[in-house]
Amino acid sequence: MPKPVPLPDAVTKPFWDAANERRLVAQFCLGCNRYQHPPQEKCAKCDGGDLEFRQLSGRGTIYSWQIMHDTRVRLMQEYQPMVIAVVESEESPDVWLLTNLPGSEQGQFDIGDPVEVEFEEVAPGTFIPQFRLAGGPNDQESK
Ligand SMILES: [Zn+2]
Repeated sequence: MPKPVPLPDAVTKPFWDAANERRLVAQFCLGCNRYQHPPQEKCAKCDGGDLEFRQLSGRGTIYSWQIMHDTRVRLMQEYQPMVIAVVESEESPDVWLLTNLPGSEQGQFDIGDPVEVEFEEVAPGTFIPQFRLAGGPNDQESK
């Protein structure tokens, strides 16, 4: 059974278009020099409309996580129990992204652990950002 695919609207479309090109972007307000996510029509802080999308490094840390046992999203039920983690991007504490931490089991990660973006193809040509633990056994050398 397929995972749910994103349904972009006019405001979030640039984010999903970038994801389909395997790029992670976030909205940036030129009025007050801050990122905001998810994308909105105006800046939540200064109400300005001078917003652009900027590419992120894809690196971040786990801000919080939980194990989902009882999602009401029927398409997701066969993946339960599953991890739902909030990732804080390294660019800004205002940019939080959700992930299932693919490849990681409960007990293998904790709050503050570094993660890196990867893109999961949920339908042909449609990608969603996911995050994978960084600094695994094969990664230690590069630190
Ligand atoms: Zn602003």
